[in-house]
Amino acid sequence: MTSKKDSSRSAAAYPALSAFLAHSTVEYHMEELPVAEARPALLEWYRATRRRLPWRGDAPPYNGSTAGVNKAGSRAAQVAAEPSPVGEVSAYGVWVSEIMCQQTRVEAVIPYWLAWMEAFPTVQDLAAASEEQVNAKWAGLGFYRRARMLHEGAKQVVDDFDGQLPQTVDGLLRLKGVGPYTAGAIASISFGVPAPIVDGNVLRVLSRLCAVASHVKQPAYADKLAWGLAARLVEGGGGGAAGELNQAVMELGATLCAPDGSGCDERDPLRALYKSTAVARDALAAQRAGDLDALLAQPNLGVHRCPVCGAGAADFLARLRAVAAGAPPRSEEDTAVAQVHALLPLPLPKKRVRQERYLVVAVRRGDAALSPGTAWLLAKRPDSGLLAGQWEFPATLLAAHKEDEPDDPGAAARATAGGTLLEQLAPGGVQKRSAVDGTLEHVFSHVRHTMHVEHACCDADAAASEWEGRTVEWMDADRMAEVGITAGVKKVIAAVSAHAQTGSAPRRAGKRRVAAGSDDGKQPKMSAFFTKRES
Ligand SMILES: [Zn+2]
Repeated sequence: MTSKKDSSRSAAAYPALSAFLAHSTVEYHMEELPVAEARPALLEWYRATRRRLPWRGDAPPYNGSTAGVNKAGSRAAQVAAEPSPVGEVSAYGVWVSEIMCQQTRVEAVIPYWLAWMEAFPTVQDLAAASEEQVNAKWAGLGFYRRARMLHEGAKQVVDDFDGQLPQTVDGLLRLKGVGPYTAGAIASISFGVPAPIVDGNVLRVLSRLCAVASHVKQPAYADKLAWGLAARLVEGGGGGAAGELNQAVMELGATLCAPDGSGCDERDPLRALYKSTAVARDALAAQRAGDLDALLAQPNLGVHRCPVCGAGAADFLARLRAVAAGAPPRSEEDTAVAQVHALLPLPLPKKRVRQERYLVVAVRRGDAALSPGTAWLLAKRPDSGLLAGQWEFPATLLAAHKEDEPDDPGAAARATAGGTLLEQLAPGGVQKRSAVDGTLEHVFSHVRHTMHVEHACCDADAAASEWEGRTVEWMDADRMAEVGITAGVKKVIAAVSAHAQTGSAPRRAGKRRVAAGSDDGKQPKMSAFFTKRES
């Protein structure tokens, strides 16, 4: 009887925390979504403060950056967008922007989108372009698979859809490279369809708005509950202003509800609606009253059985208790509330990154001083897999490991591997072969490449035209610009150029001079990519 009385008193005193602890189904999250209040707040905020971006039809200047928006005193997101001539952006233009923004920051995308739309103003222009023209315009954005899918999708629109983008989610999903996110974005932004979209920003906003104690890769949240919540939000109020509503949630996630968003900022349109901050305030009040430990220690808390929160609930509650235990007095409560707000979504489980160590050979034609006219021997990658169809310096795998730094087989083994590779690439022989000091690092999403570089000169007729079934070609700076060269190739050329400046000095002397050059700023680009190894 006593315990029943206690828990009912707690439920009344701490309603948000009690409901969160007791919930055991996803219905709780759906019901906690304040559709009627959130929609007008989001739309009003978005219309007043949204970023000016070319694919929204805005004229320059653009303000894609969100840096520092949550720093104390910042008013960056409160500056109203000035009225500007809103041009009509085609559904194709929206499609391009959505694909470009998927793995690249908005401010970095702006110049690429403008150049792309100038080169390929319509879906017909893109469909008619060559693979090399497409890659050249994409070069620097990374994740080249996106460019290839966009190109293939454009051909599909021209061949199968009479040159018009489909106007429904189902129709758009038939295009290559278009998944539920991109289909929902194009359908809602260009055609006003009340279709949900879910990306990392939306997942963050919804997890805080509806107190979802999950990380953003958990399928029960990312593939199911979040789409249900986003659909309910965009379909609310008759489904009007679908494009603006979707963009408002994403924009909020990129600005005031970024990972460092506080949930308490007066500029935040959802500040009164976040379930995260309501739970936090209840937990702090319970801590002050000496009730929190008893609340969290209740047997059979429902939250541990929620299909979405269950796996992460113990972790979240431990963090919540830690914040509450160290909380400042009530007058400064917002700091602790913001800490709890920032606990959601939960951190991702640690990802295993594969490590691969390569020997790369940079062979140039002739032995004249390096210049933009210097031709380098590059090989084309296979048409599938990582960096499909891109040009690179030929390389051979030395070692591969998970997590730990792969073992360096040593200079002698590297020299042997380099010799084998050079015999294949330049059967006619090479001159001035030398090892570049240090290593280059390049990180992709699941793999980190550590590269040792060997440099050699070779006569034009001494080189092979094919290597391991791949096309090999001499390329100078102009030709590289034409095909669109990757950041990895640029790193290697920069490292060889720096190496060449040290002349044919002995290895140790060369090392010292490279280091001195980096330190006094004469080679500012070096320090960014050229990792010195003293081993
Ligand atoms: Zn739950």
